Amino acid sequence: MPLRVVLATHNQHKAAEFQGILGARIPDLVIEPYEGPEPVEDGITFAENALIKARAAVAFTRLPAIADDSGICVDVLGGAPGIFSARWSGVHGDAAANNRLLLDQLADVPDPHRGAHFRATMALVLPSGEEHIVDGIWPGRLLRAPRGANGHGYDPVFLPDGCAESAAELAPEDKNTLSHRARAFAALEPLLRDLVHA
Ligand code: IMP
Repeated sequence: MPLRVVLATHNQHKAAEFQGILGARIPDLVIEPYEGPEPVEDGITFAENALIKARAAVAFTRLPAIADDSGICVDVLGGAPGIFSARWSGVHGDAAANNRLLLDQLADVPDPHRGAHFRATMALVLPSGEEHIVDGIWPGRLLRAPRGANGHGYDPVFLPDGCAESAAELAPEDKNTLSHRARAFAALEPLLRDLVHA
């Protein structure tokens, strides 16, 4: 019997990404979109926000649910933008404005101190109340100007460690094997395998 797991996001792109990556690795897993009410994400950590979303989806569907929360964390800003990544400039989802503000804030910061990482936190919540949290971190540093046209969000201003290309210059399939999300998926995979085989 296939295991049905709800992905607590209204973002179709994310649902397809999860199904594409996890569905391919775990044949008996079916990722379903979540169509219930969206809770207020008022946590102050990635983990809290992921748990809020996953718990709401379990309460509505009575199925196991996965939710994620992600963002970019800059060392000299004490980890900001962090959970505020999507609306750092004040306008939710305005990636160009978010990137501009972040680069302006770091204008005087020399290269050795421009460390940053992307972080993806995923929560898996079961109808029994059992809860799991996994994290994926992609370390790198901030560039001085945007580079590249692939990807989304802060990809053009992020130079991953060990790469000569920004996250927006990498081919999407390469980003998908290196990224914070890929790393979080890898951590989630054994938990889902256990569930499928339980
Ligand atoms: P959310 O997890 O959809 O809430 O994403 C939060 C925000 O973090 C996004 O709007 C982006 O600004 C940023 N972000 C998360 N992951 C990435 C990534 O892979 N590349 C670029 N920006 C990202």
